[in-house]
Amino acid sequence: MADTSNTFASPPGAGPDFSADEAQKSPATLIKALGIGLAVAFILSWVYGPLDFHSPLIFLNLALVYFLGLLLGRIGEALLKILRLAGTAAAVSLGVAMGLAAAWFSWASYLFTITDYNFEVYFSVVLDPGELYSWIYYLAENPIWAPSGRGGKASSFPPLFYYAVWAGELLTLTVVPVKKCRQFIANHRLCDSCGHWLADNGKPAVRRTPPDLPAIVASLKAGDASVLRGLEPLSPEGSGGWLTIKGYACPRCPEKPGFVRVFRNELVMDKKSKEPREIENPLGGFVEIPVDLEGEIFAEPEPAGQPPEAPGTPADPEETA
Ligand SMILES: [Zn+2]
Repeated sequence: MADTSNTFASPPGAGPDFSADEAQKSPATLIKALGIGLAVAFILSWVYGPLDFHSPLIFLNLALVYFLGLLLGRIGEALLKILRLAGTAAAVSLGVAMGLAAAWFSWASYLFTITDYNFEVYFSVVLDPGELYSWIYYLAENPIWAPSGRGGKASSFPPLFYYAVWAGELLTLTVVPVKKCRQFIANHRLCDSCGHWLADNGKPAVRRTPPDLPAIVASLKAGDASVLRGLEPLSPEGSGGWLTIKGYACPRCPEKPGFVRVFRNELVMDKKSKEPREIENPLGGFVEIPVDLEGEIFAEPEPAGQPPEAPGTPADPEETA
């Protein structure tokens, strides 16, 4: 694999050491991410399990579980980012593994807490799914949740209620991290040359929604960005929504072509607040863009008729003195 004909050894950390393709498909990178993800789930379980025991209300537990799911999701995103791991399959595996591990370890640390810190119980549950199932069954059928130390507190809900709550907890712990990790993968792309993440150019362009939008979407999905040529600027009277074009490029490979993502923005009436609310939906993924078109789209001044609540425009006119 190593190319020995290259006599100029690159200094460590200075050059591309692998291609984007390798980064996306390397099983070693995924295994590393899964290993760190499981370790994180293990550590967090020692916070969540005892908290679950001491929390006075089961509904507070559900909020805690949601918070734990969000935390796992953020850590999953960070792992994908730092390890440069791309691909939906990797994102889903990482999210599911972290969620399942967090649920399992949390059950173990919870049972450890309610059995007066019995390590035998802890290890039997961690090592044997059948043991965990026996405990879950026992607790649902015999809802006296603090056998010792707290005098026992009888519960008034039927077993089915607990099964439903625990199933909801498990679902929250897996779905939330998977969603976060998938979102990260959908919104980021690795450079084909050096395997680092592309960076947002920070100046989204706005265009009026063209009448032939379906044809444009089809071309974008086929990887053809030239359909974005000559789109009309946004006019204040344009009420049918607008397109936002975001540009991305590799910070390490200035010679490589950039990419764009196109979003459709619309103002919809919020049913609850009765206020118009902006929604933004991506029209496909990253599309490579020719250099001259990139210039046409991003180099011009911002159009005068900015839509209300346009993203990424916190400019305060009073400060530009
Ligand atoms: Zn690059």
